[in-house]
Amino acid sequence: MEPLDRSTVWPYDERGEPGEFHYQRFGNPTVDAAEAALGELDGGTALLFPSGAGATTALVLSLLEPGDTIALASGGYYGTGGTFAALAPWGVRVVEFDQTGSPPADAQLVWLEAPSNPYLTMPNLEAATAHPAAVVVDATVATPIHVRPLEHGADFVLHSATKYLAGHDDALLGAVVCRDAAAAEELRAFRGRTGIVAAPDAAWLLLRSLRTLEIRVRRQTETASFLAARLRAHAAVETVRYPGLGGLLSFDVADAETARKVETSTRVILNATSLGGVTSLIESRRRWEGERVPPGLLRLSVGLEDPETLWSDLEQALG
Ligand code: PLP
Repeated sequence: MEPLDRSTVWPYDERGEPGEFHYQRFGNPTVDAAEAALGELDGGTALLFPSGAGATTALVLSLLEPGDTIALASGGYYGTGGTFAALAPWGVRVVEFDQTGSPPADAQLVWLEAPSNPYLTMPNLEAATAHPAAVVVDATVATPIHVRPLEHGADFVLHSATKYLAGHDDALLGAVVCRDAAAAEELRAFRGRTGIVAAPDAAWLLLRSLRTLEIRVRRQTETASFLAARLRAHAAVETVRYPGLGGLLSFDVADAETARKVETSTRVILNATSLGGVTSLIESRRRWEGERVPPGLLRLSVGLEDPETLWSDLEQALG
């Protein structure tokens, strides 16, 4: 296992020249090792950032110019729209579209989510990559275990590594994986100059977690499939969204009041936000997303607990 190196400086060599590492903002061995491991999983060059939102900010600011438009998949992570809105004063514009179809023609960047959180739709990558603009796929939910968008012509993969990749609710981290090595070098230079840099401690936790990624995600996917089937058969559940990729699903109960009752009645499944960790989490998304989601929409992130225990917990909460 790669040692954790917290150094911010490394001495120059005997000739007085900087070596591979000289100042942490421009690179450090722990972040480098985690990037190499993630790059291999996604089939590209990975760069880490201090959060998923930080990775989004860095990628957009490095690629776009004032007046450029992002075609953003509707029904995806509401916070990504929030990040783009925060960048509006710098001239970043956004147009939303249905990612199961083609992106609008007049856009300089296409932003997809595989699958979207919390609507769980999958993007039409063939239609998106036919567009002349660069294509970013936020594959936080699917992870490279299920989807490797670079192999399907996407230019960049974005991850909130806080979720499945780090996987234990103890590290905030983001990543961009680039198909093109030259594009990665440009983004690396931008990252060093702007200082949107990941800490070595979080990178070390990611390295630890990547060793169990496949086994965690496969088990979470199996359990989520099992729970989705049980939920579909339950009288109090109206709609279940689960495409079979990863441990995230969402379902609707009758109204906001019922959703509040369910989320506060589970005992094993914690009532908390976020997703992708070893502990199952449930929450009503209405509190964050407002009118974007049905009032009774509950998002469930399936962890590594025993599937029957999770079902009993949900069943008594729904009952
Ligand atoms: N992308 C998706 C799909 C997410 O669910 C999230 C966070 O919930 C993010 C990006 C943002 O990541 P972070 O919270 O690490 O900034």
